[in-house]
Amino acid sequence: MTLCHLRAAATRRASGSLRTFFPTPQLISFKLSALIQLHSKMSTQAASTQDDRYMIWLDIDNTLYSASTRISQAMGERIHAYFLSLGFPEEEATDLHHKYYTQYGLALRGLVRHHQIDALDFDRKCDGSLPLEDILEPDHKLRKLLEDMDRSKARVWALTNAYKTHAKRVLGILGVEDQVEGVVFCDYSNPQFACKPEPEYFHNAMQKANLQDLSKCCFVDDSRANVRAAKRLGWGRCVHFCERGLVTVEGGKAKEIGRDGALDPEDEGITVITDLEELRTVWSDLFKAS
Ligand SMILES: [Mg+2]
Repeated sequence: MTLCHLRAAATRRASGSLRTFFPTPQLISFKLSALIQLHSKMSTQAASTQDDRYMIWLDIDNTLYSASTRISQAMGERIHAYFLSLGFPEEEATDLHHKYYTQYGLALRGLVRHHQIDALDFDRKCDGSLPLEDILEPDHKLRKLLEDMDRSKARVWALTNAYKTHAKRVLGILGVEDQVEGVVFCDYSNPQFACKPEPEYFHNAMQKANLQDLSKCCFVDDSRANVRAAKRLGWGRCVHFCERGLVTVEGGKAKEIGRDGALDPEDEGITVITDLEELRTVWSDLFKAS
């Protein structure tokens, strides 16, 4: 083979490899078309796996158990003690506790934001030290209520401002842990955690539960502020659990439940109940036919 033949062969190989390396317009068009088909197929699959059932969101504290247990009082005492342990005098501790609760929906939120405390240490010393096993017991009526929710029509999740350890503990003692499919809690391990009634909390909850349709959210909570916030976001069915006449502690201050005054226009569309059993009527389409 002459030098000329070798050069010609090298040129042919080079031009062949260039063709391989730089795809033709036809090849690009084919690959794009295949990608579009794949994306369309994946979208169809995602849509077909989308769960279109309603979602029943249950607050835990002072909702799944009554305020008559006085657990909120015991919580308030522990949070106050925590403020004192940070060196605040009595009066300032009381004021800050209430201020942070009112401003952020959770005293802990203010403590983390302004005093850089360890939220998990707070949780251990406050919620973690509550003698819940001495106060709560398995609630067969509550369990029956949850069992009677028609799971072909609605999923059931808990939605709390507490950390997961407290949430699981309460659900476990009440004997309903297996009745909730998931728990949305405040992630105290993240210094930037969101809590009710912040919109971000509700959005995160929907994301965690893979839920897109606001109108499918059915929510019950003892805090009117939380229920209002959810309603404002567009959650479809919002219920305020209001045990009128009982006393609870919010932000360290005792408060008679239901003394917030009459419902105002902002509360339009919010149903008020005094007993969870009323959910059987309020959400009658989400319960099994008796
Ligand atoms: Mg509550």
